[in-house]
Amino acid sequence: MRVMVVGSGAREHALAWKLRQSPLVDALFVAPGNAGTAAIATNLPIRANDIPALADAAQQHGIDLTVVGPEDPLARGLADHFQDRGLLVAGPTAAAARIESSKAWAKEIMAAAGVPTAACRTYVDLDAALAAVRSAQPPIVVKADGLAAGKGVVVAATHAEAEAAVRDMLGAGTLGEAGRCVLIEECLTGQEVSLLAMTDGETIYPLLPACDYKRVGDGDTGPNTGGMGAYAPVPAVDAALQQEIVARIIEPTVTEMRRRGITYRGVLYAGLILTADGPKVLEFNCRMGDPETQVILPLLDGDLAALFDGVARRRLSDVPAPRWHDGAAVGVVLASGGYPGSYATGYPIHGLDRLPEDVIAFHAGTAMGDDGTVVTAGGRVLTLVARGPDISDARQRVYAAVPGVEFTDMAYRQDIALRETQPRAAARG
Ligand code: AMP
Repeated sequence: MRVMVVGSGAREHALAWKLRQSPLVDALFVAPGNAGTAAIATNLPIRANDIPALADAAQQHGIDLTVVGPEDPLARGLADHFQDRGLLVAGPTAAAARIESSKAWAKEIMAAAGVPTAACRTYVDLDAALAAVRSAQPPIVVKADGLAAGKGVVVAATHAEAEAAVRDMLGAGTLGEAGRCVLIEECLTGQEVSLLAMTDGETIYPLLPACDYKRVGDGDTGPNTGGMGAYAPVPAVDAALQQEIVARIIEPTVTEMRRRGITYRGVLYAGLILTADGPKVLEFNCRMGDPETQVILPLLDGDLAALFDGVARRRLSDVPAPRWHDGAAVGVVLASGGYPGSYATGYPIHGLDRLPEDVIAFHAGTAMGDDGTVVTAGGRVLTLVARGPDISDARQRVYAAVPGVEFTDMAYRQDIALRETQPRAAARG
């Protein structure tokens, strides 16, 4: 099989790393990739959103299967375009990707399917939205309907903060089209977990549950980022709870879409909160998460290419369900100081060749410098991942390796997976 991965982050490096291990894969391409993917695959200098150029490349290189990392090309119809040209893709069509690209539509699907989620109302009119905010009890959750690169959700502690968010989105249009419609949502409390599942629209194979860390600072402080770390599996999600999440959330959602003539082929990612009333959906994503992928795939004891091929061909039931290595994985994102605000790039990265054997460095914002050294080229630079017999052990291994990697202004969170090493009663958020 000749396989192409679309994207350039650590998620895509992890996808390529796992695909490379498959005996089914004879040639591997990543578009556009990074310095890490260049070491294990052929990078193609094509932007992830340039759908016609990606399809041209797939034809030119005889690609049998394309795996898509980010949501944007999926929401813009990459899978539709590829299918029209007879190219096989593991990723949902634009109609199915709406589960992520329109939060209002996702709520409609959940309501029709009876999937537990936060109560919510949708507004396009500024005055109506402001009136709704004023009559709600803080904390109030204000969400933009569309894709906003992680900037579309405000959990407002006060009426004033919620009103400001509504004015920004519906009044000033700061998020553009994505914020022309807003959701005002009940605020839920509990531990957040992600459960990702592979599906061809019929068969559903859940992956290991994972937790990610979105805020830039220790103790979940500071602004939201693309993700600063993750761990898997999640002790709070035992086999029974995982089964409940599949039966009450994933399966009804896939079935409701199918009832509407939409076959979901790809990874459906449920962002969940474990409330006192059971698991509820915060959001759906139409692809794998970053950095969750970086901790889930090292634990996969199976053939990722066979699974994605089954998804794309709608023959997932012919492929054995994924099995998992024992133990846990913890991933820590090494970022450029200043991220998610402004930061400098082009700094040489030292120590990548001296990492312990049990630690993997998945590259994100990296590039090859003129003299062949790897240099920083983005906000999130690397995800370091270690596996271990349990979360505490994996955490120790990854943090022991962090000081071995050096670049100017390197920043990272110190508390990834820390909550799982403390007594359960103290575990929060
Ligand atoms: P989302 O992109 O919808 O997952 O929202 C981003 C983050 O905002 C989530 O990871 C939660 O921390 C928070 N959030 C979103 N919706 C809610 C809600 N209804 N109640 C509490 N927190 C929420």
